[in-house]
Amino acid sequence: MAVRPYDPTVEETVEEVVGLLQEVVGEEWVSNDPAILIGYSKDNSFETAKKPHIVVLPETTEQVQEIVRLAGRFGMAVTPASTAINCAGGCIPQRGGILLDLRRMDRILDIDEQNMTITIQPSVRFGVAQNMLRKKGLYAVNPSGPHTAGVATNHMDKGIGMPANKYGVGPDHIVSMTFVMPDGEILKTGSGALPGAEKVCVEGPGPDMSGLFHSSMGIFGVMTEMTTQVYEWPAVEVLKVVTFETEDLNSVSEFFYEVTREDFVNECSHLQDAYFSWFATEDDEVAESIVEYIPRNNAIVILGGEDEEEARLKEEQLLRLVERGGYELMDDSIVEMLSEMIGDITYECKVLQCTMRVTRFFGSFQVVWFNSCLDRVSDLHKKYQRLADKHFRDTDWRLWKEAFPPTEVTVYTQPLEFGRSCMLELDFFISFDDSESVKRGLAFGYDAINMVLDDGGLFDRPYGGYGGFSFGTLQTPRLGTYADLLGELKRDIDPGNIMAPGRLNLPLAST
Ligand SMILES: Cc1cc2nc3c(=O)[nH]c(=O)nc-3n(C[C@H](O)[C@H](O)[C@H](O)COP(=O)(O)OP(=O)(O)OC[C@H]3O[C@@H](n4cnc5c(N)ncnc54)[C@H](O)[C@@H]3O)c2cc1C
Repeated sequence: MAVRPYDPTVEETVEEVVGLLQEVVGEEWVSNDPAILIGYSKDNSFETAKKPHIVVLPETTEQVQEIVRLAGRFGMAVTPASTAINCAGGCIPQRGGILLDLRRMDRILDIDEQNMTITIQPSVRFGVAQNMLRKKGLYAVNPSGPHTAGVATNHMDKGIGMPANKYGVGPDHIVSMTFVMPDGEILKTGSGALPGAEKVCVEGPGPDMSGLFHSSMGIFGVMTEMTTQVYEWPAVEVLKVVTFETEDLNSVSEFFYEVTREDFVNECSHLQDAYFSWFATEDDEVAESIVEYIPRNNAIVILGGEDEEEARLKEEQLLRLVERGGYELMDDSIVEMLSEMIGDITYECKVLQCTMRVTRFFGSFQVVWFNSCLDRVSDLHKKYQRLADKHFRDTDWRLWKEAFPPTEVTVYTQPLEFGRSCMLELDFFISFDDSESVKRGLAFGYDAINMVLDDGGLFDRPYGGYGGFSFGTLQTPRLGTYADLLGELKRDIDPGNIMAPGRLNLPLAST
C-alpha cells in the first residue's frame, strides 16, 4: 500500500485517523482532545515537552497490529508507552503522531511454577506480579525502582536491581517476546520463534535477534507479550548493612569484589547517607534529623536461604569477611530504627520499593546511570562531586525550597555478576519552578554525561531526556560502525520510520 506523506498540521488527517482507530478499538479508547494529549507530553525529565496528535489504548496484539498498519498507511509516528515510569523522556512522542498507551494490556497470562516462568502482557507491573508470584514462592527480578514499573519493559530496558549480583540484568531473564513489527507482522523471539516449542531459556535459534530489541525504545516495533524467568523467594531472609565511614568509595568496591566472588549473598547494593535517609522516611525533616546516624557509605546485603540454619551460616560468612576486611556492621539499634520507618525491608526491596520516595523532591529526580567497573567508582564519584561544586556551589539553593543542597549529589553503586562490572547511578535534584536551577541542572547533566563517556563509562540504556541532548545523543556518535549498522537495520526494518522516530540518535541519512 502506498504511504501517504503525513502533514501533522492537516487536521482532517488526524480526524480521519481518529475515526479509523475508533473502528479498531472502540470509540472510548481513542482521543485527540488536547486536555488529554497534554498529559502525555511531559515527564519529570528535562526532555522537551511534545504532545501526540492522538492517543489510543488497544487491548490485544491484533489491535496493535491494525494500529501500526494504519499508522504506516498515513506515515504517522507511533510511540509506545507501557507503564511510562522511565524518568527519562522515553515515552514523549518526539515527532507527535500516535501515542500507543498499552495500559489495558496488563494481564498475567501464565505462571509456570514447575519451570519457573511467567508470561505477561507489557503493562503488568512489578507490584502485581510479585504479589501473585509470592503466593507460589517465586519472584521476578526487580529494579530498585517503583512497584508500578512494568516487568516486561524493565527487563527489555536492561533493568538492574539489588539481585543483579546473583541473577543478572533484565535481558538475562527474558525467555521470549512477541513483537508487532513496523509493517504489522508478528515476530516471536527466543524459543517462541519455533511454533510449539517449550518455553526453554535459549537466546534464540541460531544467531540471537532478541538483543536487537533490548533498550530499543520502541524503534523496532511493539512488544505485546513476554515470557520471563522467575526465581525462588527465599524462605528466610536477613538484612545486614556493612558501613564505611570513609568518603572514599574504594573500600566499598573492595567489599563488593569480595562479597560477590564468594557468591553467598542474594542481593546487595551501595547507598550513601542522605539517600538512605530519604528512602527510610516520608518526611524531609525526619530525613534531615536521622542522616547523622547513618554512616557516609553503606552496603546493604540480603542473605537468605531455605531455612534459619542456611541463613545463619551465610551470616557467619559475612561476619568473617567484614572482620577480614576491617569493615564495620551497622549498629543493630540503627537498623531497627530504619526498619521501623521502612517496614519489612526485604519485602520492601522486592515489592513496595521505598526507593520511590526520592521522587518527592519537586518530582525532579534526575539520574545519569551507566555501566563501569568497580575500580572506577571512587574516581568517578570524586569527579562527579567536583562537577556539582562547580555548577551549584555559589547558588542560593534555599530559595529553591530544596530539602538538601544540590551539591549533595549522591552515588548509588550496584555490583553486577561476580563484581565484574557495576551499574553506577549519579543522582541529583533541581527545582523546575526556578529557571536558574533548571539552567544549572542542564549544564551539570551535560557535563556529567561527557565526564562519564570520557572516563570509559557506557550507557547501555542510552536514553535520558536532557532537552535536546541525552545519553544517546552524546554516546551514539562515538559508536562508529556499530551505530551505522543499527541505523541500517532501522531503515530496513522500518523504512517509513514510523516507530518512535527521533529516538537514540541513530544515523538515518535517508529517512
Ligand atoms: C525513582 C525511580 C527509580 C528507579 N530505579 C531503577 C533501578 O534502580 N533500576 C532499574 O532497572 N530501573 C529503575 N527504575 C525504573 C525504570 O526507570 C523503568 O522500569 C524503565 O525506565 C522502563 O520504564 P517502564 O517500565 O515504565 O516502561 P515505559 O516507560 O512504558 O517504556 C520505556 C521505553 O520503552 C518503550 N516502550 C514501552 N512499551 C513498549 C512496548 N510494549 N514495546 C516496545 N517499546 C516499548 C517506550 O517508548 C520507552 O521508550 C526507576 C524508576 C524510578 C522512577
